Amino acid sequence: MLDLQKLDTRLAQLDHRSRTLPVLQELSAAQAQSTRADEDLVLARTAVADVEREITKADQDVQLVRDRAARNTARLEAGQGNAKELQAMQHELDTLARRQSELEDVELEVMERAETLRAELTELERRRTDLDEKLSGLEDEHARAAGEIDTERSAVVAERAQIAPGLGEDLLALYEEVREQHGGLGAAPLIQRRCGGCQLELTSSDLSRIRTAPEDEVLRCEECRRILVRTAESGL
Ligand SMILES: [Zn+2]
Repeated sequence: MLDLQKLDTRLAQLDHRSRTLPVLQELSAAQAQSTRADEDLVLARTAVADVEREITKADQDVQLVRDRAARNTARLEAGQGNAKELQAMQHELDTLARRQSELEDVELEVMERAETLRAELTELERRRTDLDEKLSGLEDEHARAAGEIDTERSAVVAERAQIAPGLGEDLLALYEEVREQHGGLGAAPLIQRRCGGCQLELTSSDLSRIRTAPEDEVLRCEECRRILVRTAESGL
């Protein structure tokens, strides 16, 4: 009975250990970082795509003004039109030159912004790669640790299967029921007149009854109702 309890306690410990492996916390932290990194990446890629559209637009704006200025220059040089028209064209050329310079400033500013955004994107992609490596390392570590626990668990389960049937169905059912109600401890040794489960000392009347109880009688602690197992150290 106590051997079975020992194995069950060991199984509970193994379950607890597998749930509380330190690598699990690291893993969930890394997964959270990974999710954030993905979100940052989406934002950064969108920002780069947006700024690239801005560059195209700024390019086109500059080109339009350049084309128009080139047409005016050609007409001026060809001397097409009367003096008044030529004067107006010259005036427009001055305006276009100013406009072109403004648009080129805009284009430059957009290109600088694009450079910063592309650098940020590259940095985020590098971080994403680092995080992937870290994650897969942690997953390997977790698989190793979980594998060790599983191996030990299988051994304990096999050993349990060997000894459990020897206790008989009724005792086993009682044990499982009490274990369920008492946080995993269904059977406890009687040590120095104390219940190994609740640690309370048995009354002398209980002790004298236990002393005379048949070997195969299932004893229960009167306080906690756990199955009480007599041992050499029971103090009877
Ligand atoms: Zn007890």
